[in-house]
Amino acid sequence: MDNSVSTGYGEYKGGIETISAYSWSEDESSLAYEITGSSNHALPLRLVDRRHQIEGTWRGYLQVADRTEGSISANLPSDFHLHELTDINPTDTDAVVNFCNTHGLLWLPKPVLESIELPGVSSALNTRVEPPWHRNHESLIDIAEIQMALRLLRAAVGTWINYRARGKLAPAWADQGLQTPIGDDQAMRWFGEVINPGLVSAHPAVVLVDASDTGQTPAFGLGAVHVVSLYDAICARIYNDVVTGGVYSYCQNEPCGRPFLTQRKTEGRSKVRTAGLRFCSEQCKRAQDSREYRRRKRGQATSGS
Ligand SMILES: [Zn+2]
Repeated sequence: MDNSVSTGYGEYKGGIETISAYSWSEDESSLAYEITGSSNHALPLRLVDRRHQIEGTWRGYLQVADRTEGSISANLPSDFHLHELTDINPTDTDAVVNFCNTHGLLWLPKPVLESIELPGVSSALNTRVEPPWHRNHESLIDIAEIQMALRLLRAAVGTWINYRARGKLAPAWADQGLQTPIGDDQAMRWFGEVINPGLVSAHPAVVLVDASDTGQTPAFGLGAVHVVSLYDAICARIYNDVVTGGVYSYCQNEPCGRPFLTQRKTEGRSKVRTAGLRFCSEQCKRAQDSREYRRRKRGQATSGS
């Protein structure tokens, strides 16, 4: 019996290589993997470390110093990855610097920086500049590292969104100017390689709370991790979307089209409504409402003449 399978990579004739051949199939229903979380629990979202501020440039690098004014931590929305991360243009260096100075410095975790499998990470960086946590005072970071972190995280978000929509995963990487993965299963492995190093800081820990202060919460006890890096904060948010398995709505404001789970309030980070929403934010609702109103008015004017 001929049980050959067309893989797009030549003819394959059964046997132990079934899995890799199967995964390279063009058929969406034949993905080699499913993406899931290692537990069913969403991670608590920690404050983001905002101690580092980019203050200038030095010999092609960005100069980073300890922040002297403003909060040293940022409380980011749970859908930061679907809004601010999605909206930033990684090629706009001024916007990238502003992004880091607003939300926290972005750098690549060592396992990502040194990953052999991830597409061209280390070759994109000029030289090795030690990440800021190794330095007590002034330090330097390559803007290419921040831009690479943005691209990888945006590709990871795109991978998950496409996965939920049962679409192709590879374009999520190509869209970021990254190498195109060989098939959707490689895109899934890259997804894990980007996200997992950013989840290490989310580990549980034994915490010592003040015995005489009964009101002290474990989050502020001795041994608790108070802040995480922006990279880790974004990974925790993507992980939580995986774990909760929410189905994204797509914003009906025509120029937006953003996938979202909850509608954003103009101010604050409260999640109010989740079901049957058409717009990612109140601004988008207003924009589309007035667009449709203008259209109706134009239609009336045309039919009346
Ligand atoms: Zn929108």
